Amino acid sequence: MPELRIPPPDQKARPGEIASVVRRIIAENGRDYRGSYVLAVLCLLVVSGTTALTAWIMSPVVNRIFVERRADLVAAICGVIVVAFILRGLATYGQAVTLARIGNNLVARYQRRVFEQLMKLGVDFFNDTRSGRLAAQINENVNGIRDLLSMTLTSLARDAVTLIGLIGVMVYQDPLLSLSALLIGPPLIYTVTHLQRRLRRITRESVQINSRLIGAMQEATQGIAIVKAFTMEDELTRRIGVLVTDAEQRANKIARVSERLSPISDMLAGFAVAGVIAYSGYRAAVLGEPPGEVFSFITALLLAYDPARRLARVQVGMERALVNARMIYELLDLEPKQRDVPGAVELRVSTGEVRFNDLTFGYTPEAPVLRNLSFTAAAGKMTAIVGASGAGKSTLVALLQRFYDLDGGSIEIDGQDISKVTKQSLRGSIAYVSQQPYLFEGTIRDNIRYGRLSATDRDIEVAAVQAAADDFIRQQPEGYDTPVGENGVTLSGGQRQRVSIARAIVRRAPVLLLDEATSALDNEAEARVQQALTHVMEGRTTIVIAHRLSTVVNADHIVVLEEGRLVEEGTHASLMADPHSAYARFHRVQGAKGLGLVDDAKPIQTEAPDEPATVGSSS
Ligand code: ADP
Repeated sequence: MPELRIPPPDQKARPGEIASVVRRIIAENGRDYRGSYVLAVLCLLVVSGTTALTAWIMSPVVNRIFVERRADLVAAICGVIVVAFILRGLATYGQAVTLARIGNNLVARYQRRVFEQLMKLGVDFFNDTRSGRLAAQINENVNGIRDLLSMTLTSLARDAVTLIGLIGVMVYQDPLLSLSALLIGPPLIYTVTHLQRRLRRITRESVQINSRLIGAMQEATQGIAIVKAFTMEDELTRRIGVLVTDAEQRANKIARVSERLSPISDMLAGFAVAGVIAYSGYRAAVLGEPPGEVFSFITALLLAYDPARRLARVQVGMERALVNARMIYELLDLEPKQRDVPGAVELRVSTGEVRFNDLTFGYTPEAPVLRNLSFTAAAGKMTAIVGASGAGKSTLVALLQRFYDLDGGSIEIDGQDISKVTKQSLRGSIAYVSQQPYLFEGTIRDNIRYGRLSATDRDIEVAAVQAAADDFIRQQPEGYDTPVGENGVTLSGGQRQRVSIARAIVRRAPVLLLDEATSALDNEAEARVQQALTHVMEGRTTIVIAHRLSTVVNADHIVVLEEGRLVEEGTHASLMADPHSAYARFHRVQGAKGLGLVDDAKPIQTEAPDEPATVGSSS
């Protein structure tokens, strides 16, 4: 399964890539945060300034107070120290809150952008991508962007500026000693670059494993009925356990690699501090130099150690954030397919005649699914498509909605090629009732209104009455305002179907696409659904993937598909007239079941093999 078309993990980041991703993030968002950034940077400057001051002040502390015993200066010097620390505390608070606010806003912004992009991407993208995994990965990635930015800012502004201030103090107090202390720089930089490279690969793997894990958990809980029915609990627990262990090990590996910096930098720092103390101790003890400057120097050195180490760590941490930021941009940069062609016009539907002209299509170039298919769904009439599972019925319905682009031929609605009109107007002219009724987070009213956002409450209720849904909706605790979806009431399969039919009615679209449900409904529910459908079909061009005999028999026109080819078309009577027709053969084999057209021996349905008999008058 392609994972967001992510480049292989060992791919090396180009030099300057951190800079380029950061630049892009700043270019896209920086302007709006300018005020906050200025505030944050000011706070950071105060933090680093006061830190340098604390180091510098050690020299007067030691020389004036301890060596010269100037009691009169104690109050002034201590006062300065207290004020410096208070300022530092306030500035630290200010910068932390400001940066957090920027970061949270940035997360929100990328979440919006990503969702918007997901809504733009074609159905093909979601065919290739597992939704649970995608959600988990996006979550991790978006946080990565925030970390990248706040880390850059914190490290550059606070630590780098602090470090420069402290090095300034060191050089001012003792240039020679400073030079020797700075010798630990090069080995530290080498270590960091080395670790960065290793971390880049592990992080990408870790994001992928984590999102697989969370995705797998989501899938398992969503499919809990199947899990229980097939007693898959133990096997799934075992499999998830493997992923958990894998994720744990990966996280440990990241910790081991990134924390490796600490022992190395501590060791280097130990040498530096010991060396400085040895040399300056010698000068104080043997040459009798005043200790103030050395004290100030050592304080600066010790204080410099933390920001220096953080700066090195930030390089390593940035690597992880960078991987995430890149993954987000890979998603954001995907070109949505099935864009409107330049100069696309609005579809104008007069009668609603749908014509398929010599249609050829395959999901992959090697495997054509539909071949040279031509037929017309007459305006205002019902056209039933029958065929074995895999014959291409759902594909046909998807193509009419332009979920995919054709390989050959065309589809026309009232003589207008659907690839030349706007997707918005095309889909606005079509109401689709899927096999699996899907309800979204929100109330029943919201769910019906998704059919047409401008629908009034009255429209919604009228549609619900027509869809035979009004009475059960009114029996819900809050009627039309009862929440459904994950956190709402549970509706039965038949009820959900009727809500989704009401959604289609409210749409007032001239073309209706109907994928008849194959899931088992009791006869009563089935009859209500059937009654609802009759309403919605009235006066509309209806194309139905027929699984019920009653639908097929009552259809104005029947199209029989076999392996992506149209093999027969006509009415029930005309097709039955030829005893050798595929349609007639199907009737003999399938009898009253009438779920689809099949090869003699093959079972027809993979989804629901044990369908109850159809609701239909004739058989
Ligand atoms: P039907 O609705 O008649 O059962 P479909 O249109 O779903 O048939 O499928 C027709 C063929 O296309 C099948 O061979 C199926 O495996 C293939 N197919 C369907 N959807 C996809 C997809 N998203 N990607 C690749 N192949 C697909």
